[in-house]
Amino acid sequence: MVLVIRISFLSLLLAGVAANSVAQSKKLAPITAVVECTQASAKGQIRQFVFDGNKETYFATEKNASAKDNFTLTFEKPVKVKTLEVLTGKPKGEDALKEANLEISEDGKTFQTVGKFQEGQATRKLDGKTVLAIRIQPTEDLKYPLTIREIVVDSEPAVRHFKYPVEFTIDVSDAPEMKEWTEKVARICERQYTMINEELKSEGFKPARSIRLTMKNDYDGVAYASGSRIVGSVKFFKSHPEDMGAFVHETVHVVQQYRTRGNPGWLVEGIADYIRFFKYEPGKAGRLNAERARYNGSYRTTAAFLNYLSEKYDPLIVQKLNKMLREGEYKEEAFQVLTKKTVQELDEEWRASLKK
Ligand SMILES: [Zn+2]
Repeated sequence: MVLVIRISFLSLLLAGVAANSVAQSKKLAPITAVVECTQASAKGQIRQFVFDGNKETYFATEKNASAKDNFTLTFEKPVKVKTLEVLTGKPKGEDALKEANLEISEDGKTFQTVGKFQEGQATRKLDGKTVLAIRIQPTEDLKYPLTIREIVVDSEPAVRHFKYPVEFTIDVSDAPEMKEWTEKVARICERQYTMINEELKSEGFKPARSIRLTMKNDYDGVAYASGSRIVGSVKFFKSHPEDMGAFVHETVHVVQQYRTRGNPGWLVEGIADYIRFFKYEPGKAGRLNAERARYNGSYRTTAAFLNYLSEKYDPLIVQKLNKMLREGEYKEEAFQVLTKKTVQELDEEWRASLKK
């Protein structure tokens, strides 16, 4: 009897430990963030430099900041902050912030001051306080641009740095009424940029840091990308405002930067939709017609084929294909090199799996 009690106590204890470690590993998954400023950035000094884990890069406003301007770092969801440190000014000390408050918010709407800037720095112990957003708020008009080097947040869960800093600037001169919607799209793409670049990383590749997003009246398609420009149709997105994932697809094209000729369009589009429908918004692609699907059906059909290959053969297959396409080394035999089967054999196998 005693033994039974002991065993069940032990198993309870073990179950408790297991449950705890599951809860902890869930708790530790890092989240994403968005950075916003009331003023435009100075050329090349983009907002995401404030949270890229690098104290040598910095953000600066284009013009001197006023007491009406502010800079905000907003997390995907509230985190418990242990300590918060903000470094301002250029790396050599110019434009260090003096006349400003460091503020935090639990809901992203009402802010409270938790510190002032001294010699360009503000550091606060917050002892696990719940924080959704951090704001840097000048208390008077400044005679210099608002210049921020780094915000250092020690929190639970951790917030992921912008490993591939980028900034989208929008042009809505054709449809000023779409400003708010387009800004929202820009923030989504900025937030997904780390994920897209991690999925499509290749040695020595440096993605664009500045991307222009223009909404156009005289464009009848949906959206397209060219270099580091993305164009969206005013007409299409006015009637399909929920289709923001289309811009994640276009952002993938900007990251692909396939400058060589001869890459098959079905694969280029398939990779863009693979990132969109299997990484950004899984489950939104809808069901495929198993009778008509072919590996080279492009867009979401090829995306599903690539997902099948990455689950069954190689979790890095898309990254490897991307590298070949980017470096002008892609040939159809790539599939055989990576999976030991021809693309036709893989196609038959995949289609059979769709019918199950
Ligand atoms: Zn495309």
